[in-house]
Amino acid sequence: MIIKPVVRNYMCFSAHPDGCRKNIIEQIDYVQSKKKIENGPKNVLIIGASTGYGMASRIVSAFGCNANTIGIFFERNAEEGRTASAGMYNTAHFEELSTKNGKKSWSINGDAFSNDIKNKTIALIKEKIGKIDAVIYSIASPKRTNPDTGEVFASTLKPIGKEYTTKTLNFSTGKIGDVTLPAATEEDIEKTIYVMGGEDWEMWIDALLKADVLDANATTVAYSYIGPVLTYPIYRDGTIGRAKEHLEKTAFSLTEKLAKINGRAFVSVNKALVTQASSAIPAVPLYISLLYKSMKEKNIHEDCIQQVYRLYSEHLYNGNTPKVDNEKRIRIDDWEMREDVQKEISAIWDQITDDNIRTFCDLDGYRKDFFRLFGFDVDGVDYEKDVDPTANITLI
Ligand code: NAD
Repeated sequence: MIIKPVVRNYMCFSAHPDGCRKNIIEQIDYVQSKKKIENGPKNVLIIGASTGYGMASRIVSAFGCNANTIGIFFERNAEEGRTASAGMYNTAHFEELSTKNGKKSWSINGDAFSNDIKNKTIALIKEKIGKIDAVIYSIASPKRTNPDTGEVFASTLKPIGKEYTTKTLNFSTGKIGDVTLPAATEEDIEKTIYVMGGEDWEMWIDALLKADVLDANATTVAYSYIGPVLTYPIYRDGTIGRAKEHLEKTAFSLTEKLAKINGRAFVSVNKALVTQASSAIPAVPLYISLLYKSMKEKNIHEDCIQQVYRLYSEHLYNGNTPKVDNEKRIRIDDWEMREDVQKEISAIWDQITDDNIRTFCDLDGYRKDFFRLFGFDVDGVDYEKDVDPTANITLI
């Protein structure tokens, strides 16, 4: 099959196995070029493990800490005339390379919000490893099915209080436009908290504690985002921000629950990056294009893999105590939020037009990163070659 990108509405519906393989190899090479992380975890469960921050966490765990990993994700394999999703290829390549490196890995494809997947995971831990010593929670999902009633709740990306009009970038055409988002209802807020807040993270930790599969001193981390004042109306002060506040508070109750095994729970606030989740948020692609330009010029740009390596090596392990802000959050968005970076972006924001976009924004960098998520536009890959679209993977 000759595979080309199929893009609609900020999503790409095809993926290229060879490009995904190169992306995984590059991330592994980065971690292997850095110092091994001391006192790292030995057996890590990553929930949301197939793309973005979750896959980077799996790679840093396996190749930076020499850990065995269990990855949970929701992906699809190839069917007649249709490629597998990028996360499926990423995982197949990760598993192969991690096994070659002498580390065990198990992958579970299914709905992490369900009781069934939690039970399956616990059974797997008991059978194969005994106990785990780190749990990374990295899910980004537009919906969540209540595990007991089967009711489906959808999250929304809406401002709270009043409607909001913002500049936005169509990165396919390179055109700037305005988008108006209606104010969220109370129900929108509640549903978004239900999907992207901390309840499911807490349910995972409760289930793992109850089954006695968390090792003494186990660490759990979930990922959050704050971002600049510019995107507050749609992000931090909007429905998704409420969910992130809930997630951040959940770290406090988990800290109490984990005290009995001397464990610890943190939220890490990460940098804005092009991932499947972030490209769908209005205003965020424009902000990220400006951010990339500013951070690349200052030589402080990072991708998920650099971010997670820094999280593990400077905060969680290597004998370090995590440095936290007033709300007890780890801030690896520190370089994104640097005053010089943010001042530059807010000074430019109002001046951006279709005519000057290439002067101020790293539009090409944004596009390249977007296509790379799906294994396209990766240097050295022959896109005219006939490839087998089946992801070669044994799923639990
Ligand atoms: P992503 O879209 O790349 O990855 C999401 C992962 O969740 C995938 O592995 C997917 O398979 C999995 N998933 C989704 N629904 C699932 C389900 N029901 N069951 C099992 N797995 C499921 O997203 P990302 O950008 O890496 O985001 C991960 C976390 O990092 C999110 O909490 C996000 O808010 C946070 N974060 C992202 C950014 C950013 O700019 N991308 C910045 C800071 C924090």
